[in-house]
Amino acid sequence: MTDSTGTSYRDKVATIDNEGKRVWLYPKKPSGPLTRARGILSVFLLAFLFLAPFIEINGQQLLLFNILERRFVLFGLVFWPQDFYLFVLATIALVVFIVLFTVVFGRLWCGWACPQTIFMEMVFRKIEYLIEGDARRQIALNHAPWTTQKIIKKILKHSLFFAISFVIGNIFLAYIIGSEQLLIIISEPPSEHLVGFVSMILFSGVFYWVFAFFREQVCTMVCPYGRLQGVLLDPNSIVVIYDFKRGENRGKIEKNRKRDELGDCIDCHQCVDVCPTGIDIRDGTQLECINCTACIDACNAVMKKVNFPTGLIRYSSFNGIKLSQKLRFTPRIAGYSAVFVILFMLVSILMITRKTIDTTILRTPGVLYQETAEGFISNLYNIKIVNKTFEPRKIGLKLKSPEGRIKLVGGDLNLEPNSVTQSALFVELPKEKLRFVRTPLQIEIYSNQKKIDNISTSFIGPDLWRTPKKQ
Ligand code: SF4
Ligand code: SF4
Repeated sequence: MTDSTGTSYRDKVATIDNEGKRVWLYPKKPSGPLTRARGILSVFLLAFLFLAPFIEINGQQLLLFNILERRFVLFGLVFWPQDFYLFVLATIALVVFIVLFTVVFGRLWCGWACPQTIFMEMVFRKIEYLIEGDARRQIALNHAPWTTQKIIKKILKHSLFFAISFVIGNIFLAYIIGSEQLLIIISEPPSEHLVGFVSMILFSGVFYWVFAFFREQVCTMVCPYGRLQGVLLDPNSIVVIYDFKRGENRGKIEKNRKRDELGDCIDCHQCVDVCPTGIDIRDGTQLECINCTACIDACNAVMKKVNFPTGLIRYSSFNGIKLSQKLRFTPRIAGYSAVFVILFMLVSILMITRKTIDTTILRTPGVLYQETAEGFISNLYNIKIVNKTFEPRKIGLKLKSPEGRIKLVGGDLNLEPNSVTQSALFVELPKEKLRFVRTPLQIEIYSNQKKIDNISTSFIGPDLWRTPKKQ
């Protein structure tokens, strides 16, 4: 597409052809210092991802996101449904941090740390290069007739893809249901854990489909973070960018052609050939660019070969290239930083002051008061106590007001570490002391003899004004 000034713009998606069909990408195998650095980092990140569900802190899985039981563990700290407000605030703080980070450093996360990029580029793509060869060989193989060699290569590749997807699916499940539960599902017959077994196969199937077929479409079409780049990035954000001032006018190196009127880009297409999302970074910052740095390495290698300075494609901002500006602390960054600091402090304070023993006492629904032979009116209550500490606790209850007594149903309240305990109790008040149908109650909670909470609830009694008094 060309505008009135003659400037041309890309007006179609790199992975969709004119008929609207998917264009399969064959990115060239990247190499260079940045690709090596990403490879090393990915080894550590993959090790963490695979080991985290099997590491325990204080008897808890390092990271657990049990959505089914609404129980989350972050680095040994257990978050219960009662901590939901904390979870929401922490999530908002995280979103603000992501926005702030993206405004400053662009999609650094996508290129260096996102599991999708790491699995796709550092695991699945490498296996593909190993079995089918680099881009040209892959194209040739895919267009070749189905020979025995092609069939073996395809079966080998897809078997390995599914095996790795199966492992990823299992690890993913371990983050949701816990590694102990996962090991039980694996070690016992599938018929005893049908839901777990089906989930395992389902997750494996989804991961296989994503990495074998859907690939870069996750980043360019599905990922909400990717779709938000248009509003998050600004001309000061650091991104992988082509130095258009230095590179243009681009032109091939030709014998007997002076480069005086040409820039440093020799139009070799190497930066496009290695791109896993199929774009040309020379068109400017684009939604599809995951900042994987493959084009930086490719271009630097070319620059070295032709004795030009490296860095024609590099990490910089649009203003960094156009105005030679360094990274600036803009009002936008200041605003996001302020919001993040406030939220971070709020979450920290709430975390430090959060109750380690959370008690809820509610009158048992559907049960009215009872009158005892000793002349007391009694109400039945349900008690739920969450012990968020790593030690067992002995809980005591004391009726602070009004005068009366508490009788626990089922004996003492002994809490296991990091557990939820539910029980029932009767509160009994002398009938002659009751003045109203509804009497406010104050119950003190003691943990290991130390008062930790004060619970307010209400007590239902007879309507003594209407109940005829016995003569
Ligand atoms: S343009 Fe460069 S950094 Fe962006 S996705 Fe393509 S190769 Fe990676
Ligand atoms: S790799 Fe560098 S020199 Fe080659 S086309 Fe891309 S920007 Fe130009």
